[in-house]
Amino acid sequence: MINIISKLPNLNNSIFSTMTALANQHQAINLSQGFPDFDCPKALVDLTYSYMKKGYNQYAPMHGVQQLRERIAEMVEKQQQSVYHPDNEITVTAGATQAIFTAIACIIRPDDEVICFDPAYDCYAPAVDLCGGLVKTVSLLPNDFSINWDDVKKVFSHKTKLIIMNTPHNPTARTFSDEDMQQLIKLTRGTDIFIVSDEVYDKVVFDHKQHISVANYPELKERSFVISSFGKMFHITGWKVGYCLAPTKLTTEFRKVHQYLVFSVNTPIQYALADFLRHEDAYLSLADFFQQKRDYFADALATTPFEVLPSGGSYFLLANYDRISQKSDIEFTKELTIKHGVATIPLSVFYKNRLDKHFIRFCFAKKQETLEQAIARLTKVNESFG
Ligand code: PMP
Ligand code: GLN
Repeated sequence: MINIISKLPNLNNSIFSTMTALANQHQAINLSQGFPDFDCPKALVDLTYSYMKKGYNQYAPMHGVQQLRERIAEMVEKQQQSVYHPDNEITVTAGATQAIFTAIACIIRPDDEVICFDPAYDCYAPAVDLCGGLVKTVSLLPNDFSINWDDVKKVFSHKTKLIIMNTPHNPTARTFSDEDMQQLIKLTRGTDIFIVSDEVYDKVVFDHKQHISVANYPELKERSFVISSFGKMFHITGWKVGYCLAPTKLTTEFRKVHQYLVFSVNTPIQYALADFLRHEDAYLSLADFFQQKRDYFADALATTPFEVLPSGGSYFLLANYDRISQKSDIEFTKELTIKHGVATIPLSVFYKNRLDKHFIRFCFAKKQETLEQAIARLTKVNESFG
């Protein structure tokens, strides 16, 4: 019998797969995994099909189709006032997950330390582990999930090689501020510390606020891999296309890993996205579009026994269920799915030490009727919870 020694012994199926499977099994409304339940623009599908019919069906260039890299450069310059050259500073990736893995893999060697905020999106730590690195977590503050930069300084060491940022933040829906960026500048100035900045929700920032990217700050930009995803931009999470922005030196290393991890990304979709990106409206309207959903859902949920936390961006909001039950968040989300027909994500799974303060994450990137049906069910939860 062959024996395989796991490189990730403590990992099972992701919570997103688990909760979506449970939702399907029990025909629950799925507000767990972050994906829209409405379709992407038909024009984008038509464009992809037209490129397939025209024979754009072989390998794309390793670093991405020229037109798409040019459109990304234009979009980033308009939106972030930040210039990245399409030839040597932009790489098209198979979604943000691959870009994050690639960036971590090209920086981290055994025993290097990586600073991650806690709670964090699930794909950072396993990538660091696989490279032999050590994750050093810094807890976001309990009341509003802000960063205490003195805590960050405390975990800093000569082994620190990378800091992973994520704004708007998944799972807390918090956005980081100019003050955070100034602190990050101070902390990294004069060091060879890199930053991976996961900005997949950069177009989904609410309340007329601007997205604050590390790319806006030259001192951060020079050390950063800025990662985004078309999945969030055009409601195509299943197409898995994203990109990485980074200065030439960093991009050169990024592409060395990228070319042996995936080599290149779906060709007809890249051409279609390049054409589609000419319509700025498609992404400029996103924040308003999702804000309407957030407003509806947050207001309606506030009339139920859940206590709703503010959401400054992303597809998500957090709510506390102390007024309903004292069960663990994992038990609570299971019961909510099976007995009440609404699937959500327990917040504890995003914490390294599984801290459970009875918060759950709701995804509101759903049709209005889906949200209404979910609220109708959530209004009744108090009646039967133990
Ligand atoms: N980072 C964050 C914060 C996310 O929420 C997600 C999920 N969309 C990803 C990365 C992964 O994006 P993709 O599906 O493009 O790999
Ligand atoms: N980003 C999505 C979420 O946070 C999940 C993506 C996935 O299933 N890996 O829900």
